[in-house]
Amino acid sequence: MGLNTTSEIDIVRVSSSKIDSIDFENISFGTTFTDHMFVCDFREGNWQRPQIKPYEPFLLDPSAKVFHYGQAIFEGMKAYKDEHDDVWLFRPDQNMDRFNKSAKRMAMPEVPEDIFMSGLHQLIDLEREWVKKGLGNTLYIRPFMIAIGSGVIAAPSTQYRFMIILSPAKSYYSGEVKVIIAEHFSRAANGGIGAAKAAGNYSAQFYPTKLANEKGFQQIIWTDDATHTKLEEAGTMNVFFRINDTLFTAPTSERILDGVTRKSLISIAERDGINVEVRSVLVSELVEAAKDGSLKEVFGAGTAAVVNPIVGFSYQDVYYELPKIENSFALQLKDKLNSIQYKLADDTFGWTVKV
Ligand SMILES: *Cc1c(COP(=O)(O)O)cnc(C)c1O
Repeated sequence: MGLNTTSEIDIVRVSSSKIDSIDFENISFGTTFTDHMFVCDFREGNWQRPQIKPYEPFLLDPSAKVFHYGQAIFEGMKAYKDEHDDVWLFRPDQNMDRFNKSAKRMAMPEVPEDIFMSGLHQLIDLEREWVKKGLGNTLYIRPFMIAIGSGVIAAPSTQYRFMIILSPAKSYYSGEVKVIIAEHFSRAANGGIGAAKAAGNYSAQFYPTKLANEKGFQQIIWTDDATHTKLEEAGTMNVFFRINDTLFTAPTSERILDGVTRKSLISIAERDGINVEVRSVLVSELVEAAKDGSLKEVFGAGTAAVVNPIVGFSYQDVYYELPKIENSFALQLKDKLNSIQYKLADDTFGWTVKV
């Protein structure tokens, strides 16, 4: 057991595990959940006694605020199993801090470190059989919080439910990803909630993404809402551009989510002598670089896929294809990050935490 696991949790176990009925080789991302879940409610100004219990549906009042005002936040992280059957988390403190920043922005109570970390550790400890060995096998972890208080008055709830659910996953392969650069729609705006993992940010992307899908593109590269000239994120991932041998990614801001993968890749790249520039790349620079051949790579970065190489982009109805290159920075960085996560390489950064 790792740090901060002191919180007393009531544990009710399933009578029999469903693990033997799961085809771990053919699992589609985010559709299968483990036997148990973690639940802790907030009422009358206090966090109640946390519970681990069988994964199951629960009842809410139809007027619960989450249904009407989308007062809901989440996190996404993973557990990995090494060669010795030990289970590891990757920078869980970062996810907890970000969760509580999201909570604050959405006028929700912060989850105490003790509850977040002991819930995480004890739930994963109970489900360690669900974390499979081998590169690419992970247990995707979804902490989330919803407003469960009833009443359709547009004001923050006084009752919340914090939960953690777990989903076994294979390495995520999305096929070839072509993107459209946003000229009209925006993911986030200054003063808005783009820096929070708030549920509404994602539903707001579904429609523009659907329009992109209908044109044969898988994702959108979001631009700044005011001028649509700066490249900001790719779908639900941070985005990196390699022009010649320099890696560019935008600084985090009110509009750009502070991704754990993004900052970890920056650290690894800098350690390994790749020149990284944290600054906004303009759409015009990208188009120029694509035209003169200096644009080598574009990739998304996030927990689910680690890196997601982009094969081409469309801007103002012109399609620019990226070159197929050897020694891709995206794949090198992905390998190096995975090696740390699966304990195949020394964790010189001190990022991994044993469960
Ligand atoms: C979660 C998320 C990311 C990636 O964050 P990670 O911590 O690397 O998983 C990037 N952009 C958005 C909009 C996100 O929601």
